[in-house]
Amino acid sequence: MITVFGSANMDLVAYVERAPELGETVSGREFRTICGGKGANQAIASALAGGDVRFVGAVGSDGFGADLREALDRSGVDTRALRTVDGPSGIAHIVVEDGGANSIIVVPGANGEVSEEDARTVSADAPQGRSAAGRTTDALLLQLELPMPAVVAAARAFSGLVVLTPAPVVPLPRELLDAVGLLLPNEHEAAAITGLPAPEEALEALLALVPEAVVTLGADGAIYGSRDGSRLRVPGRPVEAVDTTAAGDTFAGAFTVARTEGRTAQEALEFATAAAALSVQRPGASTSMPTREEIDAEVR
Ligand code: ADP
Repeated sequence: MITVFGSANMDLVAYVERAPELGETVSGREFRTICGGKGANQAIASALAGGDVRFVGAVGSDGFGADLREALDRSGVDTRALRTVDGPSGIAHIVVEDGGANSIIVVPGANGEVSEEDARTVSADAPQGRSAAGRTTDALLLQLELPMPAVVAAARAFSGLVVLTPAPVVPLPRELLDAVGLLLPNEHEAAAITGLPAPEEALEALLALVPEAVVTLGADGAIYGSRDGSRLRVPGRPVEAVDTTAAGDTFAGAFTVARTEGRTAQEALEFATAAAALSVQRPGASTSMPTREEIDAEVR
């Protein structure tokens, strides 16, 4: 079982030739509402990749909250521990210019209400497993779009494999790192955390903080290391990327599904790389994520 303790946002995306200056009004070309938030994205990616997934977090009592819950349900995520709180859902207000440059305002809304109390739900079905390859395990997927005290409490309460995507970049408290089994930054986050721009060097520095780490390298794939001395590299798949939104969340979900099934790190890297490559060839975030069938067909 995979528990995702994280954010759910409605992305409100306006596509424009040029973003407006302060005080200016411009005419946009298109507007879309897309379910997002790193927590919801990772939950949907994990469920589509074949995981048994539940989501713990909060949405608001507005229409966006109902839409977010429905999107999770539709993907097969168990939302019984997703609270609906009075007030607005989290939103990300996104302006995308021609050429792809974007600016984003995130208003946490209901995500900001997720508390240490909610974190207790994470350990309610006390997981049994361990993360050793060859044995199934339970995993907790965390990101940093919820209040830090809640994230720390969830990590500490969980006894299976805790996987942290350290985004957005904020200082990581020692007590959080002590509870994390696997850190999964992209190369920019890895550089920001360690102060080391070379991903291979950053990976070594991350292993001083946690037992296992994966640094994703965009089109170049990913590198993996563990304290037992293992170092792996999987190249990116040569595909035509049309939209890389949530590639990292797709990777995190698929990688975690493979690990909870007891597959080796090498197998999990290949499974996740195939899943992420499928997602970048299609537009959107959760709308671009591949199913288990599609990933298996790609890995073979
Ligand atoms: P994030 O989305 O968090 O910034 P990355 O950009 O590192 O993370 O992408 C995560 C994974 O998605 C990579 O490890 C790779 O497997 C896959 N990926 C990303 N961009 C591409 C691309 N252009 N072509 C093929 N695979 C890609």
